[in-house]
Amino acid sequence: MGRTFLGSLNDVPHVTISEGVQPIAIAEGNYQNRPNPHAWMSPRNALIYVENIRKALSEIDPANAATYSANAEAYSQQIEAIDQKLRMELARLPENQRFMATCEGAFTYLIRDYNLKEIYLWAVNSDHEGTPQQIRRAIDQVKSNQVPVVFCESTVNPDAQKQVAQEGGAEFGGVFYVDSLTDANGDAPTYLKLLEYNVNTLIRGLQGS
Ligand SMILES: [Zn+2]
Repeated sequence: MGRTFLGSLNDVPHVTISEGVQPIAIAEGNYQNRPNPHAWMSPRNALIYVENIRKALSEIDPANAATYSANAEAYSQQIEAIDQKLRMELARLPENQRFMATCEGAFTYLIRDYNLKEIYLWAVNSDHEGTPQQIRRAIDQVKSNQVPVVFCESTVNPDAQKQVAQEGGAEFGGVFYVDSLTDANGDAPTYLKLLEYNVNTLIRGLQGS
């Protein structure tokens, strides 16, 4: 019996689970015009991922297709509950307050799917993060739109965004989880918890509660 080495992964079937997601190009910075990778941040896209995974597993292992379908259905229902909540709570807010202001531009898909308006400090992490120009621009956008709250992501330094909050006259609403989960005791130990936590944080911040 030999071990399975990484090299043999080339022989296993590959599936692109974001197939069917309409890509959004990154607007600026080092990755300008490349597709924004953060498609998983939108619950609507998550439903596409789940269906692609169900389909792929069922094709590879047809004997268990019914199980994959049942699991996909149950998981999708949980995503849809989060989707509904976000939709409902956003609808209660005045349209001119439906802003999502973050550090990284990681919510472009969610913002498109839920008709929000986007403000970010930098387009993609690893671009220059929190330059005076980026901070200036965000302060101007927050001020001129009277955005009530700004957020940052869990994995980056929030200092620049806290400055935006202070000088832009907004609250700092806390962090979102984007590119990584927390451990089991944290706020976002699973993907579903991550979505839920982000939605709750956004809504609470926008409602000013
Ligand atoms: Zn990211």
